[in-house]
Amino acid sequence: MGNTKPPSHSQLYECGICDCLHPWHFFGDCRDDSNRYADEEAFAARHAIDPMAVEVFSWEERLIADGLLIKGEPNNPTA
Ligand SMILES: [Zn+2]
Repeated sequence: MGNTKPPSHSQLYECGICDCLHPWHFFGDCRDDSNRYADEEAFAARHAIDPMAVEVFSWEERLIADGLLIKGEPNNPTA
């Protein structure tokens, strides 16, 4: 529910653990190089797509989407 729209194009999130970008649906090992990108341009280059079609979300947004973080509440799941 809410306003989480289904991915219509490439979505990445900024990982709060390794500081790199991962695909939105990736929730695995940060050392998985095939799912880790330095920035959206690296992602676009690797997949031969337009960098403008890449949307980057914050780590917080990723956690909220998964119900791991409640918006507005000071909560640090990595602590
Ligand atoms: Zn990571």
